[in-house]
Amino acid sequence: MANSKDDTQALVDRFGRTVDYIRLSVTDRCDFRCVYCMAEEMTFLPHAQVLTLEEIDQIAQAFVSLGVKKIRLTGGEPLVRRDVMKLMRSVGQLDSELAITTNGSQLVHMAQDLKDAGVNRLNISIDSLREDRFKAMTRIGKLPKVLAGIDAAIEAGFDRIKLNAVVMKGRNDDEILDLVDFARDKGVDVSFIEEMPLGQISEHDRGEVYCSSDEVRAIIEQKYELQPTVERTAGPSRYYRMSDSESRVGFISPHSHNFCSECNRVRVTVEGRLLLCLGNEHSVDLLHTLRAHPNDQEKLKQVIIDAMDLKPEKHEFDLDDEPQIIRFMNMTGG
Ligand code: SAM
Ligand code: SF4
Repeated sequence: MANSKDDTQALVDRFGRTVDYIRLSVTDRCDFRCVYCMAEEMTFLPHAQVLTLEEIDQIAQAFVSLGVKKIRLTGGEPLVRRDVMKLMRSVGQLDSELAITTNGSQLVHMAQDLKDAGVNRLNISIDSLREDRFKAMTRIGKLPKVLAGIDAAIEAGFDRIKLNAVVMKGRNDDEILDLVDFARDKGVDVSFIEEMPLGQISEHDRGEVYCSSDEVRAIIEQKYELQPTVERTAGPSRYYRMSDSESRVGFISPHSHNFCSECNRVRVTVEGRLLLCLGNEHSVDLLHTLRAHPNDQEKLKQVIIDAMDLKPEKHEFDLDDEPQIIRFMNMTGG
């Protein structure tokens, strides 16, 4: 059996990258239907195929004992899963930073409990500050609820709050500066994301709406000088600072700035598939391991260690030939 010193060196892949960050999807369900993430009509997984909260907790524990330093709970919308606070409280006690990504719809009544449970960081997705547009991009989301959720999160006092916006040409690219100003006003960070070709989307042509991070940066630089920093948050964002604000501006650029060589993360889908790369299908079935070997934490850890050999060198996203990946983002755990 590996001791804890060996364990901390265990999660290294064939390319010498250490995996110390996991993103766990706690549900494929969501109360929004964002146009880049889901189809309008979605079929969600039956409960039997989904990890229980206890199983997700066991997976989190196994990874932390293997040296993982940061856990992000995501989805689907993590805050719509029933009893999710039980999981938050338990994972919040592990020796690892705990972050969540949320659409913000439940934060008005959950923000303080999340902070008390040990959540350190929050990413809140918001693509538009205009009510009609926000509705169009999320298909059902209500902007005022999310804005109130952002205020509740600020009030609760998380270590760091970051807004995430997927930028689509002709949909919200004229709101880039408004989103930066909003983040500055609220004293939070903001990241702009290039849309990734995950899942079959019929509603828009991904090549046509593609807006590169360089284009977004040029728009921001019309108003603010952006100074590159070497700051990272264990994720794929590249950060810039403005001289007159604490807020940072980040870019997540899967197309234009390939971040694979520094990739330190893996994902676990809500079906228990350990995905070694966002843009590939290499995976290992942890649900099977958990159910075939109940309460055998050493077996689970060994399966995870062995899986590192499957992590591919890089993803291959190509806007002209989509979809590369049939899974939707809500299945992947964005
Ligand atoms: N429901 C939560 C939310 O929206 O923040 C968490 C899950 S969501 C899948 C996580 C992040 O992935 C969100 O910031 C969302 O904007 C982003 N996302 C979803 N589909 C995407 C896509 N096709 N390309 C790029 N980002 C995407
Ligand atoms: Fe739901 Fe988040 Fe996907 Fe939007 S991006 S549909 S909020 S999971």
